[in-house]
Amino acid sequence: MSDSILQVKNLNVHYGSIHAIKGISFHVQKGEIVSLIGANGAGKTTTLRALSGIADSKGEILFKGQSISTVKTHERIHLGIAQSPEGRGVFPNLTVLENLEMGAYSRSNKTEILNDIENSYLLFPRLKERKLQLAGTLSGGEQQMLAISRALMSRPELLLLDEPSLGLAPKIVAQIFEIIKKLNSEGMTILLVEQNARMALKVSHRAYVIETGKITMEGKGSDLLNDDNVRRSYLGM
Ligand code: ATP
Repeated sequence: MSDSILQVKNLNVHYGSIHAIKGISFHVQKGEIVSLIGANGAGKTTTLRALSGIADSKGEILFKGQSISTVKTHERIHLGIAQSPEGRGVFPNLTVLENLEMGAYSRSNKTEILNDIENSYLLFPRLKERKLQLAGTLSGGEQQMLAISRALMSRPELLLLDEPSLGLAPKIVAQIFEIIKKLNSEGMTILLVEQNARMALKVSHRAYVIETGKITMEGKGSDLLNDDNVRRSYLGM
């Protein structure tokens, strides 16, 4: 797996006495979109939190072949891992522009930062229209766009997206997934966590199904979309 940008081996996370992640292993190749799908409470968010270093974990996490298990969150961002959190997690009392600037806090080249802010506006023209508006006053879809853009401001090589479709109208969800595909076609590697299994599997090269802290299935996105168990459990068919 020489092209693996991320390799996770025997990952375990405990919250006190709750064993939330029970020894999962998976990998993401450079250039892929990989999804983790699963029900509410299966452990998807916890897995991302372990990868970005917010949750303490046991096991091995290799980023570009290097162990980052003991590397702090801000250093992981510096190495090239950025997370767009569940519930969007934008700073509500800062403007759109200030949120984007916060996303670039680990960088110092002002010209490049300004360029990347313009690129965010190209990706999401709505953000340009709203650049001086407080993030807390944006619609849910706009906040999601901002959360993704803010994560991109650290120029990651691996983008972790936590439930980008959560609480959004179908039309906005479709737009967000179009952007996910576009980012990937431009070279971004993406690990996507989603309860919306149908949308996730449609855009993913590969996916893993997670159930109560364990990976129970893996395969190509297209194969899982046609799998009877997945259809019954996650696609309502
Ligand atoms: P959701 O889509 O609802 O976020 P999920 O698949 O992301 O679901 P997690 O949020 O990772 O699931 O939760 C996995 C398990 O860990 C659940 O049993 C949850 O109750 C528990 N858990 C999550 N966060 C905490 C916490 N901070 N303290 C204690 N238990 C937690």
